[in-house]
Amino acid sequence: MASALSDKLSRLVKQMRGQARITEDNVQEMLREVRMALLEADVALAVVRDFVARVKEKALGQEVMGSLSPGQALVGIVHRELAATMGEGVSDINLAAQPPAVILMAGLQGAGKTTTTAKLAKHLIEKRKKKVLTVSGDVYRPAAIEQLKTVTKQAGAEWFPSTPDQKPADIARAAIDYAKKQYFDVLLVDTAGRLAIDEVLMREIQELHGILKPVETLFVVDAMQGQDAVNTAKAFKEALPLTGIILTKLDGDSRGGAALSVRQVTGAPIKFAGVSEKIDGLEVFDAERHAGRILGMGDIVALVEQVQAGVDVESAQKLAAKLKSGTGFDLNDFLAQIQQMKSMGGLSSLMDKMPAQMQAKAGQVDMDKAERDIRRKEGIICSMTAHERRKPEIIKATRKRRIAAGAGVHVQEVNRLLNEFEQMQTMMKKMKGGGLMKMMKRMGG
Ligand code: GDP
Repeated sequence: MASALSDKLSRLVKQMRGQARITEDNVQEMLREVRMALLEADVALAVVRDFVARVKEKALGQEVMGSLSPGQALVGIVHRELAATMGEGVSDINLAAQPPAVILMAGLQGAGKTTTTAKLAKHLIEKRKKKVLTVSGDVYRPAAIEQLKTVTKQAGAEWFPSTPDQKPADIARAAIDYAKKQYFDVLLVDTAGRLAIDEVLMREIQELHGILKPVETLFVVDAMQGQDAVNTAKAFKEALPLTGIILTKLDGDSRGGAALSVRQVTGAPIKFAGVSEKIDGLEVFDAERHAGRILGMGDIVALVEQVQAGVDVESAQKLAAKLKSGTGFDLNDFLAQIQQMKSMGGLSSLMDKMPAQMQAKAGQVDMDKAERDIRRKEGIICSMTAHERRKPEIIKATRKRRIAAGAGVHVQEVNRLLNEFEQMQTMMKKMKGGGLMKMMKRMGG
């Protein structure tokens, strides 16, 4: 794994300390590193060029504020620009249409269209209180139709039957008719995808688009696709008026550079991110956090992989051993806890599993806010170096500012997290094992 941009930048930051302005001279090497890191994160070359040029233009001649170095200031500019590019125009699913509002799902086979269709159905039912129908236009793979049936059921939506001997256009018309008669608010249309871009298929989805007149045409793209994502995105943009992007498999170990490429090439906003294979593994795309990921993922990859590969047992045992000895609880453990909680499906899914009485009590807590807080905390810890996570006590003002810039938050938030960690560390020493639930609760607040 290539070393993270933040590491390289912080090295340069050190070299550049003491200069008061971002100049042509001091910015060159920095930008070279930014360019390299973006390429390593699998952002397409043309997109990287464009982005770096924009950053340079914004950065040149900027006065460096207070005690920041030009390097730190540039990290901030890069982070902001990344987040702004990826986050611009973000909005929830548009349903402003005569019912049924039709949503057409487009993308290559394996991108995650069918899974995402069901996730979206669940989102629209739960968050927008809509009556949702799904239908598959994939007449080439009977298994795909069955798959949609299964996941639609899991989502609590209704599935409209289709068979391989039908024409996609006929299926579309029949589904719309049925949706109108049964007063569905939303019709989600899953489509066939091939392994590569295919003209026949593109014509077919264009025809579907003409019949369905969807209010949203969503391009589903696998974040692990890297450089190739650009060509796929271009082809779909040329064929269809895309209104949004859903980036899937962000739970994988890719640096997620595809987000920047696809956003730039299609001009469409990234609306959601797929973060697990499960039906509730869909999150509103968080551009700030994703910028942090592209910039500073580095050695965190290893940890995430560990947690996801189910080495949880082992790390839990390690943690337990540390607790028993009453020492050594560090920010890595704190982060592992946060990530384990996420891999369990987040706070709200934990809530679903609680008895009704407890749910009612916990209902007074704003779950969305709690989840957001957890993500921000994760972002902050991810912006720290391995050394800092092991020895949080070395995190003083300068490091705090760098970490805050990397995570796109205020220094106060870094302080708050460190305070919380310290309290927890004290608590852990007292508890000496056990009481994991207590700790979980603390992290939610
Ligand atoms: P389609 O061919 O585009 O309909 O793709 P599918 O919905 O069948 O998904 C292909 C594979 O990717 C399946 O194994 C899914 O479980 C998996 N998948 C889809 N979205 C995600 C995601 O966000 N995270 C992970 N880890 N896997 C996903």
